[in-house]
Amino acid sequence: MNTINRRSFLAVAAAAPALSYLPRTQARPAQPGRGGPVCISSGNGIPAISKAMEMLRSGSDPLDAVVHGVKLIEDDPNDMSVGYGGIPNENGVVQLDSCVMHGPTHKAGAVAAIENIKNPAMVALKVCRRTDHVLLVGEGAKQFALAHGFKEEDLLTERTRKIWLKWKENLNPNDDWLDDDQHIGAPGNAPGNAGDLQSRAEALGLPFHYGTIHCSAIDANGDVGSCTTTSGLSYKIPGRVGDSPLIGAGNFCDNAVGAGGATGRGEAVIQSCGGFQVVQHMANGDDPTEACLKVLKWIADHTRRHDLLNSKGQPNFNVVMYALRKDGAYGSACMRRGSRARNFAVHNGTGEAHHEECSYLYG
Ligand code: ASP
Repeated sequence: MNTINRRSFLAVAAAAPALSYLPRTQARPAQPGRGGPVCISSGNGIPAISKAMEMLRSGSDPLDAVVHGVKLIEDDPNDMSVGYGGIPNENGVVQLDSCVMHGPTHKAGAVAAIENIKNPAMVALKVCRRTDHVLLVGEGAKQFALAHGFKEEDLLTERTRKIWLKWKENLNPNDDWLDDDQHIGAPGNAPGNAGDLQSRAEALGLPFHYGTIHCSAIDANGDVGSCTTTSGLSYKIPGRVGDSPLIGAGNFCDNAVGAGGATGRGEAVIQSCGGFQVVQHMANGDDPTEACLKVLKWIADHTRRHDLLNSKGQPNFNVVMYALRKDGAYGSACMRRGSRARNFAVHNGTGEAHHEECSYLYG
């Protein structure tokens, strides 16, 4: 049951207190947006939101619009964080995660750890529309996709295969996997027991991604659709599922309020129900940017593992939260100023899709 209708929601939004939560710059005033259509996404989504906006303008449902938008990124071999060409797991296998949510029907669909299917968001959309379930995983998800006519494909590109191989060869200096340079005796090439996945990869000059696309849209009627799709954490343990296919974590929407989503360290987003929290904060009258910052603060306050904290006791990882309110207002925030992922993409229905800078929790 929706507890607020559009009119009371806008009244709440307009009456929201000043952004006392935001310590610095960049806070957007808590004022009603200009209405739809509006699309937002993570920074890698300019082509996605351009496509989604084109579809919204010609009357498409907002969920169809975002799924067709993110498909462009899933198909792009050069985006190593999503779909085809995504960095594989530790076995060299690309496992993809995605979920979709449709505001008007409050239905959702998701697939996790699906292999050899290029467009997991499209499969998630089928789960939403053609089953009584929300989440299919692994082999079952793949069989479901094949039954619906999706093609089985190799998702590793030559580039990501070589990246993975180098990572594998350098995992342990004492194992039997030798990389080229070690083989010819080049010094200083083995990283030894260098820390976690990210520092191991970075020590080798290899890409390491928390990287994903989250995309949400409202149409001219204020209806909401949202989607998140990813190849997940680079070199992950096979079967690891992040926040991206989990409704309420990497993606959530409520047609009476708007949409919330996340990219970045999925474990932290799962443990905070990040997407759901964003929407709840907006329902309580928070500006979208403030809603994002509140979730990041919650994550920071609940991060207890020493290896995930810096010397100031702040999270040493990034999470980016995204919020799109039913009235067209939007916002995004990342953990720290200057984070690698510090932009998000916006199409506000006029002009071109463009990047805007995320707000941040720590300066
Ligand atoms: N959130 C994704 C995951 O943890 C990855 C990312 O967004 O970078 O799988």
